[in-house]
Amino acid sequence: MRIGIFLCGCGGLIDGILDMDLLARAAIDLEDVVRVERHPFLCSPEGRERMRETIVENRIDRLVVGACSPLLYLEEFMEVAEGAGMNRYMVDMANLREQCAWVHSHLPAEADRKAREVLEISVARVSGMSPTEHGAVAIVNPDYCDGCGVCRTVCSGNAIRIVDTNGRRSVVDPSLCEGCGVCVSSCPSGAMDMELFSNGEMLAQIDAATDQGADPNIIVFACHWCAYAAADLAGAKRMSMNPHFKVIRTICSARVDVEWIMRAISRGVDGVLVMGAEPGHCRYMVGSLRTRNRMILLNNLLDQLGFDRARVRFAWADADDADKFHRVVSGFIDDIMELGPSPVGCSLGAGEDRFRAMVE
Ligand code: SF4
Ligand code: SF4
Repeated sequence: MRIGIFLCGCGGLIDGILDMDLLARAAIDLEDVVRVERHPFLCSPEGRERMRETIVENRIDRLVVGACSPLLYLEEFMEVAEGAGMNRYMVDMANLREQCAWVHSHLPAEADRKAREVLEISVARVSGMSPTEHGAVAIVNPDYCDGCGVCRTVCSGNAIRIVDTNGRRSVVDPSLCEGCGVCVSSCPSGAMDMELFSNGEMLAQIDAATDQGADPNIIVFACHWCAYAAADLAGAKRMSMNPHFKVIRTICSARVDVEWIMRAISRGVDGVLVMGAEPGHCRYMVGSLRTRNRMILLNNLLDQLGFDRARVRFAWADADDADKFHRVVSGFIDDIMELGPSPVGCSLGAGEDRFRAMVE
């Protein structure tokens, strides 16, 4: 892997708040990072051309842009990457502006720490990527598929057929797949994945986020279309927030796999919040309702494990509802602080190995 990192100052909107020298020094030490560059305006024609040249000169095959929100410029930077000969999907943006500099400007040292963490998570994400042809579409591993048809039942895009040649198995039509990922997280055989937002990418981000020693350490899985946009809006409105949460962007809240949450719990995270669109507003129609139902089942599983269900929560937030994002996340952080550190993160004594084995 040859990872390139570009850090944007955004004409003072980022580098007027964050310590970019510190961030650049931390970035070059990250595994597989071969180049770190800074620019005052990466989205400008000059910034994009410099990015293209640097990718070619350094044979960069994975790109992280530390700048504003991926909802604003990810597509443009993917085009730059493609123009430089990269696979266009091997790009991520670390949201340094809306979700670090702006929302935590009242705590500069904490904003710097969060920026380093967000950058590490993005580097982990691109490390977990593989070149893809279609982007966010579902794929099936026929070796694991037993043709149960659950994926076809949950697909609102009518993109899945069950064929019966040498045994039943599922086939996804990429031209019909809307990329919600609900089939992947619903498959009981672990036979499905996505080309983009793959399990590899998502688990790499969870591992990076749980390796970080924030106290408390809280992961918020936010849907690209709604809750993530609400988080950006909270930043744009300069709402001050407690920095002890890390947002991991998913394509839909229904893409959030129980395995991801259990992985985070088994690695000692103090709390997990999953956020999707209000009922009726989900881009994939009923994705967030499916997520809510899955979270109820997960709560029952957590009860059986003896793990406090209050540490895992689901909430709705539409793209324009920054107030709700702020209220829900702040309330969740307060509740987790009251609960204290995760029992998995602490020593459980004799019961620890058994608990971890159950979670695994
Ligand atoms: S849910 Fe999984 S195992 Fe069942 S048909 Fe779909 S891919 Fe195959
Ligand atoms: S990702 Fe969504 S739209 Fe695509 S096949 Fe799976 S359920 Fe259907």
